[in-house]
Amino acid sequence: MMDDEIKKEIRKMALQNAFEYGGQTHDKIILGKILGSKPEFRTKIKEISDVISETVSSVNQLSSEEQRSEIEREFPEALKPKERAVEKEEAGLPELPGAKHGKVITRFPPEPNGYPHIGHAKAAIINSEYAKMYGGKFILRMDDTNPETERMEYHAAIKVGLEWLGIEFDQVKSTSDDMEIFYEKGIRLINSGKAYVCTCKREDISKNRRERKACKCSFEDVEKNNKNWNKMNERFKPGEAIVRFRGDMKADNAVMRDPVLFRIIDERHYTLGDKYRIWPSYDMAVAIEDSIDGVTHAFRSKEFELRRELIDAILDALGMRKPHQGFFSRLEFKGMPISKRVIKPLIEEGKVSWYDDPRLPTLEALRRRGIKPEAIRRFIMSLGLTKANTLAPFDALEAFNRRFVDASSKRLFMTSHAKKLTVNNLPLTAVEIPNHPVNDMGKRRVEINSHFYISGEDAVAIKDGMQIRLLGLGDVAITKIGSEFEGNFVGEGGTADIPKIQWVSQKNAHEIKMIIPKTLFEGEEFNEDSLEELDVYTEPHYLQLKEGEEIQFVRFGYCRKDSQSQAIFTHK
Ligand SMILES: [Zn+2]
Repeated sequence: MMDDEIKKEIRKMALQNAFEYGGQTHDKIILGKILGSKPEFRTKIKEISDVISETVSSVNQLSSEEQRSEIEREFPEALKPKERAVEKEEAGLPELPGAKHGKVITRFPPEPNGYPHIGHAKAAIINSEYAKMYGGKFILRMDDTNPETERMEYHAAIKVGLEWLGIEFDQVKSTSDDMEIFYEKGIRLINSGKAYVCTCKREDISKNRRERKACKCSFEDVEKNNKNWNKMNERFKPGEAIVRFRGDMKADNAVMRDPVLFRIIDERHYTLGDKYRIWPSYDMAVAIEDSIDGVTHAFRSKEFELRRELIDAILDALGMRKPHQGFFSRLEFKGMPISKRVIKPLIEEGKVSWYDDPRLPTLEALRRRGIKPEAIRRFIMSLGLTKANTLAPFDALEAFNRRFVDASSKRLFMTSHAKKLTVNNLPLTAVEIPNHPVNDMGKRRVEINSHFYISGEDAVAIKDGMQIRLLGLGDVAITKIGSEFEGNFVGEGGTADIPKIQWVSQKNAHEIKMIIPKTLFEGEEFNEDSLEELDVYTEPHYLQLKEGEEIQFVRFGYCRKDSQSQAIFTHK
């Protein structure tokens, strides 16, 4: 059943879009907009499509004047697009140049050579949000043309990570699906003199590039280049020959100094095996793929900005359509490197356990730590398209996450560095404690006797003769301090300004390991104390939580249940 609110929202979007675009709108545009602002409807596309179709056809029958007056009457806020709630949330992304509603095609082309991390999330989210914003199409393209470093394991991890982020694609493909097209285009470039086979040594190629000098190979004729291309398939060994684009050896942009289009790699490809040994370079692959896939707007992180000229030059040389290229800054958290070159040795040396270690910025690690995918999306959208390099503090993401976990996390008690407390004259054998201070999330019943644990951090502040409050239980007058504590129950707590602390009943305490991730790097230095592990006591209700459930340990912080015996600290 479609509720009235969503019908109203569809009507508003249809009216607004039609009015903005000369009186007519289309189903697909409205569907894109609805899914963009109400992702929960992705599972109900069929139902909302019918409503959209009806609404769009009724709106299209109105004159512009009629549309305008209905908007004024029903949705006055919609006349100022900048102020709409939907727009506000997406305010991070500026309009795309030359974009037409329903015609925008974007893509996310990850290379399956590592585990997906926050940087991948940014690229995927920006490109996908743009497609949604314009009711367009979004392609996932596995950029798999370097069999030396690419693995099915990574390919699978990227898919899992994107699914977790809730990113959906209209098309999924692999760059290697189009190997025959790369060959055809490569041969065409050779035959038109726009590319040549270079058999120089690697050091000589670098030296020539630095000195801006052409090598002898660049003067060879088409026939010789064709012969050498064929030899690349059989005779040449990896590194003995490459195909180079005829750019400009004198160019200030070093990328243009006759860059590589194809190279020989004798490694098994993870899906194609030994079928090919000449593989297109990143530039060749991305240029051709974006063009033939119909990509209208291609966004990459800004370290690729100098390659824009080359991509355009390759497509011009082939007379192919060029997409608009846009750039955004790379996203990294302070003290949490995303580079494989940094992370891999840490794993090999046992300094971090695996790619899901909660100190890492991989998607798997963020998930395990208790970061919600919607928090990541909102965080990334809040950064927008700024090109200034972002070295974000992790707190910035935490602030977004807190909004999502606060309302839905059950509160439980946990004590660390526990000290024993015996309470005399306790008249109760059980207490009921609400699971959330504000929201109605039920209560839990905790069986008690006179023996409790309190946290060592609280115990140090307790003086003889002092009163403390055990939360949800009542006040206790302390009669003995030291390695163990003792006190008398003095009844229901009043408003007195005394320490109010959490506790765990000894008779049913459940011991777990608490993992507390801290900043992995301080400057360039690996932080040897970046992972704190505490043995703590929690309530038996911990055992009833679902694995992966986010909870708040009162006065400690948000944590994610990793297993029956382990929790991971998410953030304060
Ligand atoms: Zn050469």
